[in-house]
Amino acid sequence: PNAEPPYRTPVPEDYYKPTGSPSSPDRKANATFVMLVRNSDLTGIMSSMRQLEDRFNRKFNYPYVFLNEQPFSDDFKKHITALTDAPVEFGLIPAEDWYQPDWIDEDRATKAREDMVRENVIYGGSVPYRNMCRFNSGFFYKQELLQKYKYYWRVEPDVKFFCDLDYDPFLVMQDEKKVYGFTVSLFEYPTTIPTLWNSVKEFINSNPTLVSPDNAMAFLSDDGGESYNRCHFWSNFEIGDLDFWRDVPYSKFFDFLDEKGGFYYERWGDAPVHSIGAALFARKDQIHFFNDIGYRHEPFQHCPQGDANSRGRCWCDPTQNFDYEWYSCLNKYDKLFS
Ligand code: GDP
Ligand code: MN
Repeated sequence: PNAEPPYRTPVPEDYYKPTGSPSSPDRKANATFVMLVRNSDLTGIMSSMRQLEDRFNRKFNYPYVFLNEQPFSDDFKKHITALTDAPVEFGLIPAEDWYQPDWIDEDRATKAREDMVRENVIYGGSVPYRNMCRFNSGFFYKQELLQKYKYYWRVEPDVKFFCDLDYDPFLVMQDEKKVYGFTVSLFEYPTTIPTLWNSVKEFINSNPTLVSPDNAMAFLSDDGGESYNRCHFWSNFEIGDLDFWRDVPYSKFFDFLDEKGGFYYERWGDAPVHSIGAALFARKDQIHFFNDIGYRHEPFQHCPQGDANSRGRCWCDPTQNFDYEWYSCLNKYDKLFS
């Protein structure tokens, strides 16, 4: 685990700006933070944002976009804008991008929720959670406030950023033509996605030309695509290319999945849906592991090891690291490049 696996293509030295160096870097990407939150998430998202500002953004000054299906309160806006010098925008999600569509059979959806509650599936009985998963899967990148941006960094309430980030991850994405960046990967609960993989196979069979050469299918499947091993990137952290989601392959893929109704008849998460999209429609070398970003979302964390830990002045305990725990999928990601 402490060896440097081959995937850790080091970020080239000239990307680094020493801690304390002046702000206004000479080069910036067209990028923004994206936070989907409720008014009640105020203190949690302030906590995440404060750390981001202190560890990274006070030097880089990237803007923020906040999204909500209900209007943000004046109090919310006041507290958030006080945390940063960067531009902040607040968007209202159109109802048709958020709520359960009327072509969903409500009796079937209700029954599915009741079954999942009985089986103790996490969020199994929740309609809002399903709306959120569907929105993150297929609608966030279509929001008006995001149209002017190419790259985004998704941030959730109550996460931790353990380390200084002295380079611009968006420029790494841009220069290296990456489309998706992650810090934690793991297995999905089988009960949330009983028919997802059959739908994926159906899509691939009818759209073989949309699948990328040199893709990351081996991250998703241990038998050449026959079955899903349930590996996915944990989407509460994402640094990604919005144009990748907006492009034809993923858009068609999302529409196809949406028509199946699995966001409501099951409880398909945006994490497996994004991960399958990135793994199939991008080249495997376009998916980046952000090793230097120390990150925690309960109950798992990635803590940079060795030199990366001291360089980033990280405060996580290096022995508390999910990378090669049994429930992590990072070893399958490594294998793509070995
Ligand atoms: P978990 O990480 O899977 O346990 O789910 P979270 O409760 O953290 O929700 C994921 C993200 O969606 C977080 O950024 C939440 O703030 C946001 N979120 C969840 N439900 C809603 C909702 O009903 N409305 C809004 N606006 N945001 C939501
Ligand atoms: Mn969360």
